[in-house]
Amino acid sequence: MNNSLERPTTVLKGIGDETAQMLADMEICNVFDLLNHLPYRYEDVRLRDLSEVGHDEKITIEGKVHSEPSVMYYGKRKNRLVIHMLVGQYLVKAIFFNRAYLKGKLSPGDSIIVSGKWDKHRATITGQDIKIGQNDETKDFEPVYSTKGALTVKALRKFIGQAYQEFGDFIEENLPASLLEKYKLPSKREALFKIHFPNSLDDVKQARRRFIYEEFFLFQLKMQAFRKQEREQSRGIQQNYDLNQLRAFISSLPFELTDSQKKVVNEICADMKSKHKMNRLLQGDVGSGKTIVAAIVLYASVTAGYQGALMVPTEILAEQHFSSLTSLFKNTEVKIELLTSSVKGKKRLEIVESLALGEIDILIGTHALIQKDVVFHKLGLVITDEQHRFGVEQRRILREKGETPDVLFMTATPIPRTLAITVFGEMDVSSINEMPSGRKKIKTNWAKHNMLDQVLDFVEKELVKGRQAYIICPLIEESDKLDVQNAIDIYNLLTHHYRGKFHIGLMHGKLPSQEKEAVMRDFSLNQIQILVSTTVVEVGVNVPNATVMVVYDAERFGLSQLHQLRGRVGRGEEQSYCILLADPKTEIGKERMRIMTETNDGFLLSERDLELRGPGDFFGKKQSGLPEFKMADMVHDYRALETAKKDASFLINADAFWESNEYEPLRRYLCDSGVLSGEKLD
Ligand code: ADP
Ligand code: MG
Repeated sequence: MNNSLERPTTVLKGIGDETAQMLADMEICNVFDLLNHLPYRYEDVRLRDLSEVGHDEKITIEGKVHSEPSVMYYGKRKNRLVIHMLVGQYLVKAIFFNRAYLKGKLSPGDSIIVSGKWDKHRATITGQDIKIGQNDETKDFEPVYSTKGALTVKALRKFIGQAYQEFGDFIEENLPASLLEKYKLPSKREALFKIHFPNSLDDVKQARRRFIYEEFFLFQLKMQAFRKQEREQSRGIQQNYDLNQLRAFISSLPFELTDSQKKVVNEICADMKSKHKMNRLLQGDVGSGKTIVAAIVLYASVTAGYQGALMVPTEILAEQHFSSLTSLFKNTEVKIELLTSSVKGKKRLEIVESLALGEIDILIGTHALIQKDVVFHKLGLVITDEQHRFGVEQRRILREKGETPDVLFMTATPIPRTLAITVFGEMDVSSINEMPSGRKKIKTNWAKHNMLDQVLDFVEKELVKGRQAYIICPLIEESDKLDVQNAIDIYNLLTHHYRGKFHIGLMHGKLPSQEKEAVMRDFSLNQIQILVSTTVVEVGVNVPNATVMVVYDAERFGLSQLHQLRGRVGRGEEQSYCILLADPKTEIGKERMRIMTETNDGFLLSERDLELRGPGDFFGKKQSGLPEFKMADMVHDYRALETAKKDASFLINADAFWESNEYEPLRRYLCDSGVLSGEKLD
């Protein structure tokens, strides 16, 4: 950045220490910050014909003072100034509060421009702004800036105007000329001018186009540089797995892999074999068969002489993976163990010890895996399932347990392309995009709560055929206690409703884990026909005989979450059903239920969910890990994002980027943001 722009805001006229502090509170410390404090909207200050203006609209009018203004004092030091002004053929009353001092400055016949709110019925304008003199400006729009404390928008406008006038010449371009040319984007200096002092809305549009592209481009440049660096610098391990053993294992599976599964297994294996570190996301819809892919590649790692870790977000899921992997590996030498927070004492110690000695090949567990004393002998592959539930930090810790293990993230929440490109911009992505053959589509219906009786009758019919059902309780995010209470209430209700007919189990997060296990076991053995549960069954649970799911208060869930839940049924040969109980109040709420009944495609759902809820809510607030853009909107400006990614990726991989002067500002940017060490990468 040019030094002049780094000068403190106090170099500007009218900014003393006090104002500078107010600006600093808004993180505006120097001239550069001030120039980059962009308006968030514009006020239309075009003069308008009063006959066209609606009641309560904000307007700006020009006229002449008609008679001597009057002031009325009231309350403690309050006053009201009334100016009768002639605007065209209208006589208008303009009222200002606590501006008595203006009275002396105004005489009949003076030209004034007043902005404020128009009361059509009283022909009165409640003024906010007044300018004495004729309208000499041609400006139609005034920028509106966010402010804090006593700082007014007007003052900010003045400071920014002054900053631009004095320092505008020092504004440097950071984007390469070739890209500006290609997309016909205004230069940085021009764009800042247009956004702060627009003559038309088109100016604003051009400037915004540039800033949006710039934001995305710089973000993607970081991602792509990071990705290139990870690939080229990190000395990953080369896992030379035994292809014959792997083939034998695959043909021992009870089914033929789908083409998609074969494709992703190949992609992952190629990464593992290469000397680069794998950093890959595996996404596939619920039930598309990711677990088996995980098992195969873990096995590959074991045949190469390494250990593997599979980390999942819940104990139930860990147990389930443990039992399915144990059975998949039953004819092999693979030694596999389970480590969750309920594995304690001697058993835990044993596991930790033999893990460190390399006697355990595959360790499955929850975040218990990332405790300090859990040390691997030779960790080759780390898989995290349903990764968006883990924090970025947890992912990092696990990764650091091995020297540079290959890393695979699995998710069944299909991530909209939009988010994948940003959140996972630095990763390679594999997708399973077909279901194992023979699956029937789950039929989804939406019912109002007052149809509960019919719904329960329907459930009963299925159960009589020998099937099983999940009843999912309302989601109460703020309160675990209420969550549990709801589950208990519904459990009691159903126990009463179906008494003497079926066995009903209760599952929620607060149950001790032995009880959870027992309930899950009973459910999978069909000793329980109905499982009343909170969302703890959301991920991974696999009971193919369960063909009905009822979701209470379905409107409270995200679409992707509902889709996850729904994925618990439809796992066997029989037709499955999902019934959403919901009385959504808003149109969007209704739309969301409709979408659920219309599609089984998780990717489509996630795109729609994102559109309806916005990116912030998509992953939940806690760990969105989403980058924040000032001006750009990942969903709305998706095409710009995609373009920026392509451009950034192309540039990062071009020799010219590391050599040509044109790219010096970008290289500096990467160094400043800590992505580059200042040297050429390769
Ligand atoms: P998810 O992708 O949701 O983790 P799972 O791995 O749990 O899916 O697989 C869902 C079910 O499909 C399991 O019962 C699994 O055994 C079965 N399955 C996986 N792959 C195939 C396949 N190629 N053919 C038939 N069934 C399969
Ligand atoms: Mg799974």
